[in-house]
This record gives sequence, C-alpha cells and structure tokens, in this order.
Amino acid sequence: MRVFCASIATETNTFSPLRTDLADFKESFYAPPGKHPETPTLCSGVFPALRKRARAGEITLIEGTATWAEPGGLVNTSTWTHLRDEILGQLHAALPLDAIVLGLHGAMIADRCVDCEGDLIAAARQIAGPAAKIGVTFDPHSHLSDKRIQNADIITVFKEFPHTDFAETGEACVELTLRAARSEIEPVLSVFDVRMIEILPTSRAPMRGFIDKMVRHEQSGAALSLSVIHGFMAGDSPDLGAKILVTTNNEKQAGDQLAEKLGLELFSFRGTTRPEFLSPSAALAKATAHPQGPVVIADVWDNPGGGVAGDSTILLRRALDLGLTDIAFGTIWDPMAVRLCHAAGEGACLDLRFGGKTASDAGDPVDGNVSVLKTQRNAVQSFGQSVVPLGDCAVIDINGIVVVLNSNRAQTFSPDLFTNLGIDVTAQKTLVVKSTNHFHSAFETIATDILYCAVDGPYPSDPRNNAYTRLERPIWPIVENPHETEAA
Ligand SMILES: [Zn+2]
Repeated sequence: MRVFCASIATETNTFSPLRTDLADFKESFYAPPGKHPETPTLCSGVFPALRKRARAGEITLIEGTATWAEPGGLVNTSTWTHLRDEILGQLHAALPLDAIVLGLHGAMIADRCVDCEGDLIAAARQIAGPAAKIGVTFDPHSHLSDKRIQNADIITVFKEFPHTDFAETGEACVELTLRAARSEIEPVLSVFDVRMIEILPTSRAPMRGFIDKMVRHEQSGAALSLSVIHGFMAGDSPDLGAKILVTTNNEKQAGDQLAEKLGLELFSFRGTTRPEFLSPSAALAKATAHPQGPVVIADVWDNPGGGVAGDSTILLRRALDLGLTDIAFGTIWDPMAVRLCHAAGEGACLDLRFGGKTASDAGDPVDGNVSVLKTQRNAVQSFGQSVVPLGDCAVIDINGIVVVLNSNRAQTFSPDLFTNLGIDVTAQKTLVVKSTNHFHSAFETIATDILYCAVDGPYPSDPRNNAYTRLERPIWPIVENPHETEAA
C-alpha cells in the first residue's frame, strides 16, 4: 500500500498587525521530505505514526514536506502558493497512491485564500482520484468548511485544550485512514454546526466531562471517531465557530443524531466554560498575597499562539509600577533588544528599550537600565514530545523583575522555557506566561496557583465587537439564540 504524507500548518489571526511569510515557516519548523524529526510536532503527529507502519512493512511511505509557522497574521499569497504547490508537486510525483495523510492546523487564511486547507484537500483529491483515502488532522481552533468534509475520508482533531493529545490524534488518523484504504471500514462524516464561538478549555468542567464522555462513546463503538471543532475567533472565516464531527462506519443517520445531541449539549455550555479572568491589578495582587510561590499568571490574550506578537508590556508595566520583585516574565518578543543584550554580553548593564513595538494597544515600550543575566543562542522549550524554538534569547533584570526576551515568537508551553535559561522557577513568587491554556498541563505540576488575566490588546477577544466580514450564519454570542434565528 502506497501512502503519501505532508504537513502544512499555521493559525491565522486576520486581525493581527503581523503578516506571515516563508521566513516565518522556516523559522518555526520546516522539514523537506525525509527530514522530519523522529518526534512529532504539534500538527505533524501523522509522520511518526506512519513511519512506524512503514518500518513494520505495512505500507510504503512517501514523505512530503512538513512545515509550521507560529500563529500570526495573514499568510502572503506567494508563500501560500509556494508551499501548496511544493506539497502538491510531491503528491503528484508519488502517484499512484492508496492513501494520503495530511497534518494540518485548519485555521490558515492567506491574502487571497480564505480556506487554505479546504483548497489543499480538494486539490489532493483531484490529483489522487476518488479511490484514494484521504485522512487529515486538525487543531480544534480551526474552521471546518464543507469543502474539507466533501474531500476528506477521515478527520481527527485534538480533543484536549491544552493540546496534549496531538501524537494520539495523528495515530488515530493514520489508523482509520489505513483501515479505510484496506476497505475494512467505510467512514462517513456527520457534522453539526453548534453556532457558537467560545473559549473551551478541557482542563476544567464542563468541557472535561464532555471530552471524557466523547472518549467513552468512541470506546463503546458508537462511532469510529468523535471531534469538537472549537473554532478560532480571531479568524475572519465564513465557517467561524464550533462544530461537532462524528465519523461512523457507514451509519450516516446515527452519526447525524449523535452529532446533533452532542452539539446541543455543547451549546448549552455557552458562557460557562472559561476560568475566571482577572484584571492585571487583581491578578498581581492575588499572586503577591499568596503565601507560597510560584503562582502562575497567564496573560491570556497576548498569546503568540493566537497570532498576536506577544510583546505587550501592560502587565510588566503594572508590576514595575507596583515595585514587585521575585517575578519572572516569559516571554516578551523583541529580536532587536535581544541583539543589543547579546552585544552587551552576560553581566553587562545597559539602558534598554524593549517590548510594545507591534501594536498601538499592547502598551508602550519599556525603558530602563537593565542587567543582562543570560544570553543564549537558539533557545528552546518543550511541548510534550515536541521541541519549540525560541530563537536567540536574553534574560534581563529590570528593577528586580526578570524578563525573558525572545527572537522567535512562541507562546509559553513549559517551565523549561525558564529553567533552560537558568531561571529557578521555584524561587520565584510569580511567573507570568503568555498563553491562553497550553501552558496549563506543564505548569500545574510546579504552580501553587494558576490565575488567568485578561489584558486588553490587539487580540479580538470579544466576538460581539469583531469586524467579521465573511460571517453569514448567526452564531452565539453575536446572536443570542442562533438556532431559533436559523429556524425562523
Ligand atoms: Zn489550538
């Protein structure tokens, strides 16, 4: 059996001041055919899963390119067409194929392409023909279009947010796609449009129980696969919003019913799924008052993983004004400041301006006399089995506050972001991380408390106020009763 795989992924925040080009993909992750590492990256879990089967003699694997750009702004047209044509050219050269497995994110929007993944899957179908089985993986923060449903046979989606199950999701996609290619199953997809856009962390109720129930449904054989698309509120897509995806073994009616039942239950959770979001002052006060550190404060909206720059200085400014110490910030994105710190060298003191450069509403740059505690070329952090590059980094001390400056934008996934740079996290009273929820599983093991802080900035965090231009369906919270509105 001949199987082709490739991976192209990013998450596009169409409201971001950033733009995304080929350099962003190459800076984050770019592996030409045969060069994918043995460990999976977030969206390329299908590679190691397929290699395992190739080594066992089960399949002949033809690998294409795998690439990922840290979430950012619109992908420019030439970058998208270049990467698309690279992968489609590889696919064409690999014919004939029994199966194609693509590791995608699902929220990529290019300057002149609203549904990059839909176009890619449709083109793959065109090239490989109707008999080939196509399996894809998505991040739940994606837009599920009809074009994707019509052209894919198998779709699996990370169930967890934080996405700790990305390797399992790749494994499940490969398993089901190969079973379909061997004609052992006849997968049929059922979709229910939940008509809701909300933050849905699965590390807490009610989503925790909902995901556990979905897993039980899968184990009971009620469906081959169950997924929740959460949607991505920062992407101006006509398919914005949550959807339930049920894959059955040719039991369309039962799949449709289960998708609707689960979808309406998910809709009933609206407004109840988020943790408490504190103001900057309240979060810092609560962390400072805690008898024991480290308390983790998540700067939830200035999350580079959501496509903004990650250089907001608003929380840092507040901490400086309060005269706080024993607090570490990871990270503030500022390649120019990193370069100045590297030029000054470890142990140097210099007047430095850093942060607050890319958006008018992410705070002003911070000026101060800082000491350079550490400089590091090509620093990394881990996210599960995945190694995430931070680029050249500098650790500075400003008035007793420790700040990690990075050159590659990346959200904070793990405490080793700090410890790899010589910062003892357990000695800190407070750790401030730029992440919405992906930090949670790795940090809960060391944190005495976890606080979520909502800081206004460039992230379009309230769908009711976002200038969506492509949304034509009623969805909550823009419309109070979207299912009734639709029925009427
Ligand atoms: Zn995601």
